[in-house]
Amino acid sequence: MKDSVSIVISAYNEEGSIDALYKELTKVCSQLPLKTYELIFVDDGSHDKTYDKCQKLQGKDSHVKIVHLMRNFGHEIAMTAGMDYAKGDAVIFMDADLQHPPVYIKEMIKEWQNGMDIVLTKRVENRATSKLYDFCAWAFYKILNFLSDTTIPAKTPDFRLIDRKFVDFLKQFNEHDRLFRGLLSWAMPNDKVKVIDFVAPERFAGESKYNFRKSLALALNSIVQFSTKPLRLSIYLGLLTAFISGVLGLWVIIEHFIMKQPTPGYATIMTTVIFIGSVQLIVLGIIGEYIGKIHMEVKGRPLYIAEYKEKKQHDK
Ligand code: UDP
Ligand code: MG
Repeated sequence: MKDSVSIVISAYNEEGSIDALYKELTKVCSQLPLKTYELIFVDDGSHDKTYDKCQKLQGKDSHVKIVHLMRNFGHEIAMTAGMDYAKGDAVIFMDADLQHPPVYIKEMIKEWQNGMDIVLTKRVENRATSKLYDFCAWAFYKILNFLSDTTIPAKTPDFRLIDRKFVDFLKQFNEHDRLFRGLLSWAMPNDKVKVIDFVAPERFAGESKYNFRKSLALALNSIVQFSTKPLRLSIYLGLLTAFISGVLGLWVIIEHFIMKQPTPGYATIMTTVIFIGSVQLIVLGIIGEYIGKIHMEVKGRPLYIAEYKEKKQHDK
C-alpha cells in the first residue's frame, strides 16, 4: 500500500524554525495524493522552546506527533526514534531548519508511487557552507569510501524517502553508534532507488549544531563503524617501519665496520626511538578505538529514552 507517509523531523534547539516548517509542510502535505500523513517532530532534548512549540502545534493539528527524547541523544538516534514510532507506508526524514525544503516532498512521493522503494536527494548546491567545509566533506567521503566495504555516496543528506519494507529492515539494526546513511547504503537494493537533485538554502533560524569537533567525531566514528581496514593498515604500517629500521640498522653497521666512520652522538637513536614509539601509539590508538566501541555496544543499553505523544488520528 502507498496511502500514507510519516515525515520525521529531528529538532534540537530549533524554536526559531518549527512554526515556519510546520506551515510549509502542511501546505505541501495537504495536496499530496495520499489518504493521510503524520508529522513526527522528534525533540532531541532541546533546551529552548522547541517542545512547547510542538505541543502547541499538536493542540491544533492531530497530524502532529511528538517524540520527546529525555535528553540530547544526537541526530542519528533522533532519526531512529522517529522511525520507530512512524506508522506510514513510507517515511521521509528531514531536518527542522528548512535546509531540506518541503517542496521536494511532492516529487519524492511521485517517484515512490511510481514504484521506487528509496528516494534519495542530492545536494547540487549548499548555500550554507564554505569552500573549506565542502573540501573537508569531499575528502572525508573519499577516505571513508576507500576504507569501507559499503559505498556511502557524498552530498546525499538524510533528506530521503524510505518505503515501509526498508524501514522495517532498518529497524533491525540496533547498534548505538550509527550513521544512518551508511546503514541505508548497506541495505540498499541496486534498483528501485531514485535520486532527486536539490539546492540546500541557508538555515532558517539559529545555528548549525555540528561544530568542527562534532563533525570530526562523526567522521572518525563513521570510519570505525563501517570498516576494519584501519586495523589492517596498522599491520602494514608496522611492516613499513620495521623495514625502515632494518635499512637504518644495516646502514649503521656498514658505517661502523666498513666505512669506519660511525655517526657520533645519540640523535639518531633518539629519532628512531621516538619514531617507533609514535607508530606504536598510533596503532594502539586505532585498536583502542575498536575496543572502546565493543565496550559500549556489548552493554546493550536502550538506544534512547522517549515519551511519545499523539492525539486521536484524523484523516486529511
Ligand atoms: N539535530 C538533532 N540532534 C542533535 C543535533 C542536530 O536532532 O544533537 C538536528 C537539528 O535540529 C537539525 C538536524 O539535526 O534539524 C541537522 O542539524 P544541523 O542543521 O545543525 O546540521 P547541518 O545542517 O549544519 O549539517
Ligand atoms: Mg542544517
